[in-house]
Amino acid sequence: MDGNQKFYGARIVRRRDIAADLWSIRVQRDAEFHFLPGQYATLGVLAPHKHIERPYSIVSSPYESELEFFFELVPRGELTPALHKLNVGDELTMRKVAKGRFTLDLQVHRNHLLLCTVTGVAPFVSYIRTLSNDARQNKFPEGHRLFLLEGASRSWEFGYLEELKRIADEVPWFKYVPTVSRPWEDRNWTGEVGRVDDLIRKYTHLWELMPETTSAYLCGHPKMIDNSSGILVRRGWAKEHIKEEIYFVPKEHATAI
Ligand SMILES: Cc1cc2nc3c(=O)[nH]c(=O)nc-3n(C[C@H](O)[C@H](O)[C@H](O)COP(=O)(O)OP(=O)(O)OC[C@H]3O[C@@H](n4cnc5c(N)ncnc54)[C@H](O)[C@@H]3O)c2cc1C
Repeated sequence: MDGNQKFYGARIVRRRDIAADLWSIRVQRDAEFHFLPGQYATLGVLAPHKHIERPYSIVSSPYESELEFFFELVPRGELTPALHKLNVGDELTMRKVAKGRFTLDLQVHRNHLLLCTVTGVAPFVSYIRTLSNDARQNKFPEGHRLFLLEGASRSWEFGYLEELKRIADEVPWFKYVPTVSRPWEDRNWTGEVGRVDDLIRKYTHLWELMPETTSAYLCGHPKMIDNSSGILVRRGWAKEHIKEEIYFVPKEHATAI
């Protein structure tokens, strides 16, 4: 691709299929591509008469030499069916500039409550991988603690379950609770059950998280974000201490908003 263009050709170096409609890829990272944990890249494909692009949170940490993304297939979507067809060796387009403000804010509070659904875990994996690396280099921001409540319908939709559990077992600064909202479709699941928004009260109490000392970060499904944000506000959180990354506008609202 021509060097003056706004995007790179990013080659897929690894693909991991997580469920029928969920997968992750790793692409080569251009040395000039810089980002902060929690930011997104604009990925796309060049269709015959059109360049189709959408934002995707970056899963990897800036310390990594490759970029990782976690996708959900939207069956009648414009881009994801085309992305789903791509394999190792194929190229997609990636804008040269990372964007977004859904970054970990270390200036205000030391407790960080992270709430997400399915692919919404992506920016949080980036935070956690980055802090794990910082901790290994004795650069961990002292006193900060992350609390992640991750929701999915069934447990096989947790794309980073093993990695996050392992880190939570190893370090004192990270607590992780994955929760399944359709346990009757997942008989072997022995972990937490219920939707993220139904569990906020239980876990903010258990983890002793107070609005005065905790920032909240909500990422993924618009309904989870709407419900969770309402619950947090009613429990005393100020709006400016609740960050939101809403992944899509539900179809029924697409024209109204
Ligand atoms: C900042 C940001 C970061 C994002 N990061 C990710 C990410 O890491 N991984 C990821 O998979 N997606 C992510 N998204 C969503 C992504 O940008 C696309 O919207 C999504 O992949 C659908 O694209 P599409 O072209 O296939 O569908 P479209 O043609 O754009 O959508 C068709 C319709 O499907 C509905 N829809 C879109 N997405 C979903 C969904 N997930 N579930 C149900 N209905 C949906 C909408 O109502 C939409 O009008 C992010 C969005 C934002 C704004």
